[in-house]
Amino acid sequence: MAQEKEDSKLKDIVSLCKRRGFVFPGSEIYGGLSNSFDYGPYGVEILNNLKKLWWEYFVHRREDVIGLDSSILLHPGVWEASGHISNFSDPLFDCKSCKVRFRVDHFLEEKKGEGFTIGKSLEELQEVLRSEDYSCPKCGTKGSFTEARNFNLMFKTQQGANEGGSVDIYLRPETAQGIFINFKNVYSTCRRKPPFGIAQIGKSFRNEIMARQFVFRTREFEQMEMEFFCEQGTQKDWFEHWVNYCIEFLEVTLEIKKESIRIREHEKAELSFYSDKTSDIEFKFPFGWGELWGIASRTDYDLNQHEKFSKQDLKYNDQVNNKKYIPYVVEPALGLNRLFLAVISDAYEEEKLPDGETRVVLHLSSKIAPIKIGIFPLMKKDGLDSKAKEIQNLLRNHWYCEYDDSGAIGKRYRRQDELGTPFCITIDYDTLKDESVTVRERDSMKQERISINNLKTYFIDKI
Ligand code: ATP
Repeated sequence: MAQEKEDSKLKDIVSLCKRRGFVFPGSEIYGGLSNSFDYGPYGVEILNNLKKLWWEYFVHRREDVIGLDSSILLHPGVWEASGHISNFSDPLFDCKSCKVRFRVDHFLEEKKGEGFTIGKSLEELQEVLRSEDYSCPKCGTKGSFTEARNFNLMFKTQQGANEGGSVDIYLRPETAQGIFINFKNVYSTCRRKPPFGIAQIGKSFRNEIMARQFVFRTREFEQMEMEFFCEQGTQKDWFEHWVNYCIEFLEVTLEIKKESIRIREHEKAELSFYSDKTSDIEFKFPFGWGELWGIASRTDYDLNQHEKFSKQDLKYNDQVNNKKYIPYVVEPALGLNRLFLAVISDAYEEEKLPDGETRVVLHLSSKIAPIKIGIFPLMKKDGLDSKAKEIQNLLRNHWYCEYDDSGAIGKRYRRQDELGTPFCITIDYDTLKDESVTVRERDSMKQERISINNLKTYFIDKI
């Protein structure tokens, strides 16, 4: 029963996102491209706000972090060095009857419980699949599965005009490697020495087989990653620091509820072979707890690998202490689109009102809300509209405002509630006499009269 309720919450969120112009299904007029999404006018505002807040918090607020924007297409050697060509794969099997493909780990964890597959090899998982007489979740056919195989998740393409002379290259599956290969460029041009970090926001691509749950898992997505370079021996302290720093970002800056977030430390068997500690910050999505932010202590693995494969010296030369070393790295890696889904789910409420009606409202932090102020003339006539435009001009240089003059005021309020707009202003006949307006606050729905002269200071204080 609880599960049904949760699933229906996701449906309600998907429907709100479409109805209100946050997220549209990708390539819709061509029948859609599975698991692709386009962010509409209000969705892109939220994405931009989240990116800006993250950048301010991770780069501008810190003396020890600087930014980068590296390419999506990188030399194929990068992915050989990082291990993505040989290891970046998911174990999959197909139903021979309906041809639908499944991830072995997801399939078995659903059957046997969370954590069942941790530390098990592909052969061991295959053995479990073989010994149990499972039926296909899609078509119901029993025991007609193919052998499980590892599928590489990187999208491959060719660079070069002619077929024969072209080179196989990959769309990056993470932004991190673009940071590692620029480590030397950045520290030498910007005169940095460890401990310091390099942050980047950008698109990543993974040919996910079980892409699902709306924008939680897609093939094209955006990441906000930071690689923090420090001396060996200090990485554990930095790891703790960054976990706390990320939690503070979610709870304080984005105002996500404490109870919607938890930390899950990876068990030994689950750790990547190069990591000495990894934790996920999980969010309680409508379909259950899921990884939002991965924080990994990656040791000196990546830089060592790039030094080996590129044959370049990537050591940091500490002239003060007269030593050369490859720094250790702590990486907080966050998915922007998962964060989008997290903030919308956390803010979503179907609120029962005292008059018996229900309103859908997004209790978004005003820092995240796409529109900050809705501006409504009571009528489209009698000078109310031109007065409303005047007020819009007064405020629009400071806050993104939306002017709306159609339909009953109550309906306009409801629309802005669904968009998460924290304040709405109504311009009525009294405005023309007393130069004041009604300001209505989204969450409490309280209304107060504010003089036009004081509006700017009022919103500076509130937003
Ligand atoms: P998962 O286990 O869910 O596949 P991951 O551990 O492979 O994720 P990382 O490689 O650590 O993910 O990537 C860092 C972050 O990027 C994740 O915490 C998540 O927020 C985001 N991310 C990863 N894959 C996707 C995807 N396919 N769609 C959307 N966001 C993603």
